[in-house]
Amino acid sequence: MTRILHRSIAAALPHAVSGQGVYIQDAEGRRYIDGSGGAAVSCLGHGNPEVLEAMRVQMDHIAYAHTSFFTTDVAERLAERLVRLAPEGLDYVYPVSGGSEAVEAALKMARQYFVEIGQPQRRHIIARRQSYHGNTIGALAAGGNAWRRAQFQPILPETHHVSPCYAYRDQRPDETTDAYAQRLAAELEAKIIELGADQVIAFVAEPVVGATMGAVPAVPGYFRLIREVCDRYGVLLILDEVMCGMGRTGSLFACTAEEVRPDLVTIAKGLGGGYQPIGAVMLSEQIYRAFADGSGLFQHGHTYIGHPVAAAAADKVVEILSRPGMMEHVQAMGERLQAGLDATLGQSPHVGDIRGRGLFRGIELVADKDGKASFDPALRIHARVKKEAMARGLMCYPMGGTIDGVHGDHVLLAPPYIIQPEEIDQIIDRLAGAIAAATAG
Ligand code: PMP
Repeated sequence: MTRILHRSIAAALPHAVSGQGVYIQDAEGRRYIDGSGGAAVSCLGHGNPEVLEAMRVQMDHIAYAHTSFFTTDVAERLAERLVRLAPEGLDYVYPVSGGSEAVEAALKMARQYFVEIGQPQRRHIIARRQSYHGNTIGALAAGGNAWRRAQFQPILPETHHVSPCYAYRDQRPDETTDAYAQRLAAELEAKIIELGADQVIAFVAEPVVGATMGAVPAVPGYFRLIREVCDRYGVLLILDEVMCGMGRTGSLFACTAEEVRPDLVTIAKGLGGGYQPIGAVMLSEQIYRAFADGSGLFQHGHTYIGHPVAAAAADKVVEILSRPGMMEHVQAMGERLQAGLDATLGQSPHVGDIRGRGLFRGIELVADKDGKASFDPALRIHARVKKEAMARGLMCYPMGGTIDGVHGDHVLLAPPYIIQPEEIDQIIDRLAGAIAAATAG
């Protein structure tokens, strides 16, 4: 009996009772290795004593102070730290309570920026098909995931979508990586021109796609070309690092590897490491100045922005993430994970692609490896993998969806950064068993 409206109503979920390191234990005493950090959240694993202590200390001082009355040392400290560690040009922080809130705030900030600087005619947002930017109405509208949008379509504000950067399926056999990136940048440019060269507010994208396609990095050079197109038409570039940020891909900010300077970046998930619900928008001086020199007000706000206990948790998480050796460990464990997956699953007839960066890896499952034919969506292979994995004591994050008419079954792995080599091997072993069982027959 449950009184909670769970996402999947029929599913009988185990009750999590404790967590330590990379393991979660349920009420029946079963242990699960957290191969996905929940949904790429638990970057430091469970029960981190330093983060718990930081929260405790803050709670003893003050748990909550509304930001229309006060700021707090802890929220200011977090903002300072983030700005210090971020790529150059992200100079201010707007703290919120999660990923969708961060995306909503970034979209509204981008729109208000143009109002402030006297370009109120700009009204279009462009994103990519199959992207996921959150479940609130604005963030859902920005996203291009057909399945998540379907029943809400009539109440979603209009947004526009272009192709994702998805080399496994979309790069043509005779096309170089450069030519592929140029084709996608040209598609964005054509979309901007179609909507009106001075009508577009922003282009939104995840540097490494997560929740809908299972860890898909863009091809090298793609984001640099996208930045050039945006600059040509004065369009803001919003990078959604809610899932791929905060060290997940082996650098604190995923966009560092793309060598681009975004105007706005959204972060969440790993920012609080699961210890507190927290997200943030990081913004450029140029955007901040437009507000400061204009109306003097960002026309937005939520009750819990800058929550001191959430800020205390995030400040400690980010401090730990920035310690020497941490990102190197993520990179090394990520490489071990990729190599192990390649060795164990690379030859499987049902594994089409294994990809990703850092401790953010995706596996695309196919009915036929050579022809890249998808499984029948009705088989719900991704859901079967999850069930088989849980039965083997492994949490992984499977997802199914359709991009341009092609169904995909993907599994995302995003374990805590504290993971050790033998635990990586355990994840691979259990996942291989789960995939074999789910795709058998
Ligand atoms: N953006 C991206 C890229 C995400 O992966 C997610 C969550 N999966 C969100 C936004 C929404 O975040 P939240 O679930 O915290 O609202």
